[in-house]
Amino acid sequence: MQKGVPRRPGTPHAAFILLCVFAAAPACAQTFAIRAGHLIDPSAGTVSENQIILVQDKKIADVGPNIAIPKDAAVINLSNEWVMPGIMDAHTHVTQSVRYFRELDHNYLVEPTGFRSLRGLRTAQILLNAGITTIRDVGNDANFAAVDLRKAIDRGWFVGPTVQTAGKIIAPFGGQSSGIPQEIGPFWRFEYYDADSPEEIRHAVRENIFYGADLIKLVADNSPYHYSVEELRAAVDETHHAGRPVAVHVQGGEAADNVIAAGVDSIEHGFFLTDSQLKRMKEKGIFLSGTDFPSGHFEAGEIANGKVMGAAIIDRLHRAYAIGVKMAFGTDIVTDYGDESRADMTWDYLAVWRAAGVPPAELLKCMTANDAELLQISKQRGAIAKGLYADIIAMPSNPLDDTEALRRVNFVMKNGAVVRKP
Ligand SMILES: [Zn+2]
Repeated sequence: MQKGVPRRPGTPHAAFILLCVFAAAPACAQTFAIRAGHLIDPSAGTVSENQIILVQDKKIADVGPNIAIPKDAAVINLSNEWVMPGIMDAHTHVTQSVRYFRELDHNYLVEPTGFRSLRGLRTAQILLNAGITTIRDVGNDANFAAVDLRKAIDRGWFVGPTVQTAGKIIAPFGGQSSGIPQEIGPFWRFEYYDADSPEEIRHAVRENIFYGADLIKLVADNSPYHYSVEELRAAVDETHHAGRPVAVHVQGGEAADNVIAAGVDSIEHGFFLTDSQLKRMKEKGIFLSGTDFPSGHFEAGEIANGKVMGAAIIDRLHRAYAIGVKMAFGTDIVTDYGDESRADMTWDYLAVWRAAGVPPAELLKCMTANDAELLQISKQRGAIAKGLYADIIAMPSNPLDDTEALRRVNFVMKNGAVVRKP
């Protein structure tokens, strides 16, 4: 969609589906020895040459330069490749395809939950095939379509990335709709809980978790009114007692002050956060899940001030990095443009991080270890280390030199099963 952006030649959907069929079967239990020519540790920003990764029973059994290869192991030769943990996206909406908020309300009337689950599966598989092995889906999925997606993948019915879902978004009355005639009724509740007091928020959190939410997502400032510190603290208290993180959509201003004071786990977007707010986030260890849109996506979506928004995002990302806020990589793609896949669109975000002066090593860390910390799965995923699930990708050039290398990922392993080979 964006002019001048190199597209990965021919996303091989058909070949991918074939591999999926085989990978879903007992191949998962196979032992693999991966010869990794250049093994990247994104947490340290370092490369180890000529390593062997031993994969058994979905997990990394060992890794190092002198690992004995068992006789029954299938050897995968990535001697000429740069190998790293699978990429994560901390802010997806894989079941949704709308032209930003202009179509949000209309979408409720034409796409039932089952259809949304199927789109979610298709999108999730496209992302996995490109090397995105974990996604955190933060609402706007009809009636829990992403819960069904997660269950179907977890049961092994389909190959897909690890999915976390926020279920329904909790927001002040009206969700993210506006201008709905009173007699039409609150039809935004297809995707949102209205919750307008600490008690209502606690109830919404409990109901959402009951129906399958892995995290709680609130929208704090999409209306002329916004959540108070007291209301946000109720959400944090209730959700943390259930062992889950809280993500809050907020752009800036007093609403962001309240969100920071309440001690949430991540701010989503935060396009207009001030330096003072970013510093308070750093002190409290609150992640910025910045969804740092390329201005080209806004313009393609005919957003009136796309260029201005794009520049503001680059400025905020630069300041957040300079201040040292913990940053997660997330995209917030809700739209499909022309023949550009969601994976291609994901890689369009690389240019924004580059423009903000974030070094490649830092971005790779955000896309792996940082996202794993935010998703509370650091002990399972986010690194190539003994005992972790084998979510491994590879590409023919070094992403530490230029993150555009990610567009050329040609090997993907998920839970120790090969999804894609060079
Ligand atoms: Zn979003």
